[in-house]
Amino acid sequence: MRNEKSRKTKPSAKRGGKSENIFDANLFAAKSVRGLKAYVPGEQPSGGGWVKLNTNEFPYPPSPKVAKAIIAELKGKRYGNLRLYPNPESRVLRKAVAEHFGLEEKNAIIGNGSDDILNLAVRAFSDSSLRIGAMSLSYSLYPVLANIQGAKYEEFDFGKNFAIPIKRICESGVNIFFLTSPNAPTAHGFELSQVEKLLKSFKGLVLIDEAYAPFCRYGSAAKLVKKYKNAIVSSTMSKGWALAGMRVGWALANEEIIGVLDKVRDSYNVDRLAQAAALAAIKDKPYYKRLCAKIMSTRTDTEKFLDKIGFEHIPSSANFILARPVVNGRHGADMAEGLFEHLKKDKILVRYFASDKRVNDSLRITVGTPEEMKKFKESVRKWIESQK
Ligand SMILES: *Cc1c(COP(=O)(O)O)cnc(C)c1O
Repeated sequence: MRNEKSRKTKPSAKRGGKSENIFDANLFAAKSVRGLKAYVPGEQPSGGGWVKLNTNEFPYPPSPKVAKAIIAELKGKRYGNLRLYPNPESRVLRKAVAEHFGLEEKNAIIGNGSDDILNLAVRAFSDSSLRIGAMSLSYSLYPVLANIQGAKYEEFDFGKNFAIPIKRICESGVNIFFLTSPNAPTAHGFELSQVEKLLKSFKGLVLIDEAYAPFCRYGSAAKLVKKYKNAIVSSTMSKGWALAGMRVGWALANEEIIGVLDKVRDSYNVDRLAQAAALAAIKDKPYYKRLCAKIMSTRTDTEKFLDKIGFEHIPSSANFILARPVVNGRHGADMAEGLFEHLKKDKILVRYFASDKRVNDSLRITVGTPEEMKKFKESVRKWIESQK
């Protein structure tokens, strides 16, 4: 009865009419979520025929041992394995990943992609009074995670030649500093000596997000974990191991840090098939070594092409290149967007960050196979002709 009554009186025309019937979920949302701008991932087009150079995926299939391992996992216990929860800590995989980098099992934690790891780090090491620092131009997920957590996010400008402003970071009092190394979206690679200098001088934690380390001549920063207690080195199987679809990432750090991260981790954050696939991948070193070398050689070819046509770019230490289109001295956001649309008409997808003024005169181009890059080059040449 009472319900009946209130229903009659509530949506009255006198008190605002239509708008009263609109359900605004934001009114129920936490303060930090209400005004939140979510992370925008690169497009995953449906249908075939696309040359996908927009999300830095590996252009070759994963090791054949990966499919075998997934099928074996699926078939185990007479196809009964998936009935059972996975190992909660991804124990076997922790050991394999740690040993791959010359560390011990206690130094590793596995995530549902490295985005999961970054989320764990933000949850564990920041809040409304513990600030996060990062370079201006970094992986654009960090500020989103910081905002959700209600943590202040501070950006630092690079010095000359991408120098890390170590003094300013040390004086800032941030609790944790996220360093994308090699950097995204610029593709600049930091020498390990510079990373080490930051670890040595800075009193807070440094998370080195090395998603692109397999393509960098300076190699991985994982060995610094033994030397510096404030180092967290995260990476992913999405870029260098051809497993973006599987969602596996990790962090390497001293065991106390791993212990804290484990406290905020979902109990079963990595599924059985992902654990099996990642284990097979990390063990097949020769396969990935060969293909990463191939990608780096295609990268050199692509950079030579960009130089020849006069597009500006910095030398890449990753599997992508940030390039600024220049034709007859003209450049800018219109040019970048124009080329982006032109490529898309040719079914070639690259990444364009329209709303970021720091890079909206450039395109981020993933290094694909030589065949894919041939199509890219042909399409770019056509566009240049149309601009003259
Ligand atoms: C792609 C990427 C990630 C996320 O990787 P996932 O494992 O796919 O979540 C993290 N950091 C950087 C810098 C990346 O480019």
